[in-house]
Amino acid sequence: MSNEKQLSLFDWSNNDDSSDSDSDSSLIPTDAKIPIPLGTYQTMEQIAIHCNQCHRCELGENRTNAVIGRGNPQAEIMIIGEAPGQNEDEQGLPFVGKSGQLLDKILESVELSSDRHVYISNAIRCRPPENRTPTLKEIEACKPYLLEQIRLVNPKIILLTGATAVKALTGDKRGITKIRGQWMEWEGRLCMPIFHPAYLLRNPSREPGRPKWLMWQDIQAVKQKLNELEGENN
Ligand code: URA
Repeated sequence: MSNEKQLSLFDWSNNDDSSDSDSDSSLIPTDAKIPIPLGTYQTMEQIAIHCNQCHRCELGENRTNAVIGRGNPQAEIMIIGEAPGQNEDEQGLPFVGKSGQLLDKILESVELSSDRHVYISNAIRCRPPENRTPTLKEIEACKPYLLEQIRLVNPKIILLTGATAVKALTGDKRGITKIRGQWMEWEGRLCMPIFHPAYLLRNPSREPGRPKWLMWQDIQAVKQKLNELEGENN
């Protein structure tokens, strides 16, 4: 199929009977070189349908479920992790294992509910084998879906958990200990890199200056910024 033809298949408004295109995996551009333009999707459900049939990288071969997101798709805060693990692959939801439980607790500590106040996703939507770090190729193949999710949620604040998420979205290759807790701007949006919850599970000390304590400072700064932004809008 020509690139032109594949690309046109991503235009939902061109499909008279969208239920046909929803279920026909042959209509999805399998070559990651074919762009998925911003504005392609109107809903998370449409993204989920494509991602569950996607083979823009090889991770699609072993996927049980594509992992799109959980939480409130209209939230002011979007959290982007690295990649689904085994639990996430099985359930089709991000951050549902031990890391996710800790993430929920961190949010609760500043009275943010993971159902109401945040939308959670990942740099990539399919589980890498043995939970290895996703390759640049996989990240790039999946990035259009992430960009579409960000566009649909339109968050005021994006939290990037760990260096892979930072690199995937912004291209910034600095180590997470250098940049965590610092506000940065990406495409006009406020972003903050924070530690990945899995790192906190491996470093449980709450002593001042240790990762958990630093996370506590960061999440309080996030809550404060959210309050400020909401105050400006009232
Ligand atoms: N770690 C991540 O980065 N994402 C998940 O969804 C689960 C664990």
